[in-house]
Amino acid sequence: MSQTGKATGYRGRWAWVDLTSRTVRIEPADAAYCRDYVGGRGLQVRLLADLLEKTGPLQDPLSPGNRIVLGNAALNDTPVPTAGRGSCSFVATMTRSPESVPWVAGHKPLYGLVTHSSAGGLFHNMLKRAGFDQLIIDGRSERPVRLEVVEGAVRIRDAEDSLFRTVSGRKVVGPASATTDILAGAVKGGSTVCVGPAGWNLVDFACLTNDYHRNFGRGGAGALFGSKNLVAVTAYGPDAPVYRDAERFKALGRELDALVKASVEDPSRTASFRPTTGTTWWLDRAFNGRYLGVAGGYLPWHNFDEGAFDADDYARVSTDAFLAIAGKHNVCNKCRHIFCTRSAKVEAGPYAGSGVRPEFETIALWVNCCILDREAIFHMNYLSNELGVDTMTFGSVMAAAMEMGEQGFLKGFGGAPAFGDAAGMIGTLQAIADASTPLGRLLGHYSDRVIAEVAAGSSRAADVARCATTAYGGLGYAGINPKAFPGMFTAYGTSNRGRGDHTYAWTIQAEEGGLKDARDLAAYVAEGQAGKALVDSLGLCDFFTGDITSDLFLSLYEAATGIAYTAEELKAAGRRIYALERSLNNRQGRDRTYDAFVPPKLVVPLSRGGHQGQAVDPAFYATVLDHYYKIQGWSADGRVSG
Ligand code: SF4
Repeated sequence: MSQTGKATGYRGRWAWVDLTSRTVRIEPADAAYCRDYVGGRGLQVRLLADLLEKTGPLQDPLSPGNRIVLGNAALNDTPVPTAGRGSCSFVATMTRSPESVPWVAGHKPLYGLVTHSSAGGLFHNMLKRAGFDQLIIDGRSERPVRLEVVEGAVRIRDAEDSLFRTVSGRKVVGPASATTDILAGAVKGGSTVCVGPAGWNLVDFACLTNDYHRNFGRGGAGALFGSKNLVAVTAYGPDAPVYRDAERFKALGRELDALVKASVEDPSRTASFRPTTGTTWWLDRAFNGRYLGVAGGYLPWHNFDEGAFDADDYARVSTDAFLAIAGKHNVCNKCRHIFCTRSAKVEAGPYAGSGVRPEFETIALWVNCCILDREAIFHMNYLSNELGVDTMTFGSVMAAAMEMGEQGFLKGFGGAPAFGDAAGMIGTLQAIADASTPLGRLLGHYSDRVIAEVAAGSSRAADVARCATTAYGGLGYAGINPKAFPGMFTAYGTSNRGRGDHTYAWTIQAEEGGLKDARDLAAYVAEGQAGKALVDSLGLCDFFTGDITSDLFLSLYEAATGIAYTAEELKAAGRRIYALERSLNNRQGRDRTYDAFVPPKLVVPLSRGGHQGQAVDPAFYATVLDHYYKIQGWSADGRVSG
């Protein structure tokens, strides 16, 4: 919203959908919220706060009381490079630990964390073209429905029978591509975000899928749709963005575009590898330090026990191995120059097919299950996208199940695949999504429930919990072994969307460059978290190479929206967004106890590789946390005051 009240940059309209009463209300966007919370993630947490501050803690994220907000930001659908990342926010199902757990000292009930998820695809840009910035969805429909958002109107429609199949005697929504194809026929030119079978079956780490295989991956957004009886949202509209000063925006946009292009063409910048190897570049970096001559040895292996393994085995799943099956670029809408994603094809064998090249985090977390079959990884990635399963959390859940199986804990559930058993892992993926076997039904739950069910009637809950790095409401660690980097462990431990998330702060290059001091690590993480809150609130991608606090960017933002920020004002907005998320999470049961939890297996040192001998040091981490809370202005037990 411009300061004159005319919607520029933003579309200026929000739609409130109540599925319980089957009503839709369309209202102008709140101009003060747009200035103070920017857009995307920031606006969405404000809209969640407006609900949760009234209702108090949401004890069951799968109840009708949860709210899911889908939407965009002022720069979405403009030519700014990477301005095609959409936002989705909700209280997550995966990061729960509501019952008492005896294996965590001082454990308090945790009811699910406020979560933001970002995705590419066309959907959020199309939502804007259809006339809306945010779609705020409350309640639960009695029968399956879908939403159509077309040219300024929002309609709730009964979901057609053709969107469903019968699986294990139950009516379940079909795979993501089938749903997207059907709805492309229903709304000409439309773009769809949909739930897959996993979300329909309330798997706690089910994702939502945009435009075939772009996902709102982490936290369980798919389960939210399932719990609301909502199959999909399809948007269509023809309206291009309106700018406050179109000529100035165009001129500044050209300057910014040239800077981003130059960053990709500069071989000394990490951006230069993205168009070829994309995120899979990190496989070589993490395994053997290739490219920069730094130590590797932090690619997780055998459920985070190690960060290195045999080089011949690695060659089967390396950066080059995945480059060999890569095809043309297959990028997010509005991506320019950076182009990190590519299609992929396996020509022959049991896993032959076409799809997208899996991302680094996915591959790393499946290598952590000792899977060394590139074609199986490609296929499993395709299948996860079709079934609506978050690939990263699935990797952590499977690594835990494999270790529980090794130790004989899963006999009552039919056992689990062994480490390295690709076919067994694929079968378990299908069983989780379909809830079709005892093991599949078990593993579809948040981890503390899995641990409780496995340990029921025995005194071995702590031993079972040792297998799961997702224990105590964890989201699942990403593909950098946390033993190797104390700063990254802090980023993982303090991320607002849950233990293990890597996207809210990233410390690897800084730590490799010598960042060591506890206070410096804490400050670096806190600053990164506030900066990432802004990137998500501007509708940009993590790999955007421009400086969002530069005069150029701020002038461009003003030319688009009419909103003038100083660099300090914009940074303050990032801190405001992060603190609001944290205060809501405090209400949901998060404090220092959650942040300080160290999964016991992470204190066992790495036995080989460039980081041999390293492990998480709980005493040092406690010191970093002390500094972190002080820097954030929070209490010593991690609570936002005021
Ligand atoms: S760089 Fe990659 S993730 Fe970012 S917008 Fe482009 S294709 Fe999407």
